[in-house]
Amino acid sequence: MKVIYSKHYNINLGLLNYLHPFDGVKFQTIYNELKKNKGIEFVEPVDSVSMDIVDEFLSSIMQHRVRNKNGIFQALEVPRIPFISFSFLDRKILTPMRWGVAGTILGATQALENGGVYWNISGGYHHAMQQNMEGFCIYNDIGICHQQLVKSGLLAPDDKILIIDTDAHHGNGNAYTFMENKHVTLLDVYNAGIYPTSGYTRDRVDIPVPLPPGTDGQTYLRKYNDALGKLEDDYRLAFVVAGTDTLLSDKVGGLCLDIDDVAEREKLTLTALKQRGIPTVILGGGGYSKDSAKSVIRAISACAESNID
Ligand SMILES: [Zn+2]
Repeated sequence: MKVIYSKHYNINLGLLNYLHPFDGVKFQTIYNELKKNKGIEFVEPVDSVSMDIVDEFLSSIMQHRVRNKNGIFQALEVPRIPFISFSFLDRKILTPMRWGVAGTILGATQALENGGVYWNISGGYHHAMQQNMEGFCIYNDIGICHQQLVKSGLLAPDDKILIIDTDAHHGNGNAYTFMENKHVTLLDVYNAGIYPTSGYTRDRVDIPVPLPPGTDGQTYLRKYNDALGKLEDDYRLAFVVAGTDTLLSDKVGGLCLDIDDVAEREKLTLTALKQRGIPTVILGGGGYSKDSAKSVIRAISACAESNID
């Protein structure tokens, strides 16, 4: 199993950590545990993605908004704090996220060149889009990555792409980004009772699995497995947004999976993609509880042990 990690992924605001339920240093926790596992090889991005590359993806209005602290506060769902500067936010939060985007691009590039699975423990910012940023997502890493891979010639514009989104929230940013691109297939399993509730983006999903709030692990896995059976075989590349906010202990996601259920989910995902021979990059997605890191460690270890990478 190849895991993509950089120490620069971690978001540590010191005394201001209480502002958001997000465990910003979970990446370090995951790395520290997984590095004991001989079956796991780490791959590291060499730099964060540049703002030039981000700007290529964004609308002109958004190129200004991502440099404005009030817009960033709103997207991060924290109150506006007058004494915090944009440069503080950029250094402490946005730069780590741009490292996460670089990890997604690295994973997708290596998966296309070498085949197999690359697991970026950051990224998966599925609420961001060209025209907006919201839900703790500033940069749509999948959209940026797809654009750069087409630009470099590693992907053709009409190559079939698969996005599987198992985060508890509907991936409105990816649906919006690829609204008109029918070469991109979206499979999205999400809590239908929570944000984001836009019918416009939900209707874009090719294989939707909307679940009622409080859905248990067994039901989730059964419905998800049925959805995986609807996939075709000829995708050039798969992105997976593997959020751990589906855990019962997560106050935001509103679903009732336990750590074993999430590990089982990732095994189902990778088995389905491996059977079809699809190069894959997995992305961290959301996960706000203290169990998130533990759950990612368990899932990656379980997939590595089962040799489904
Ligand atoms: Zn989420």
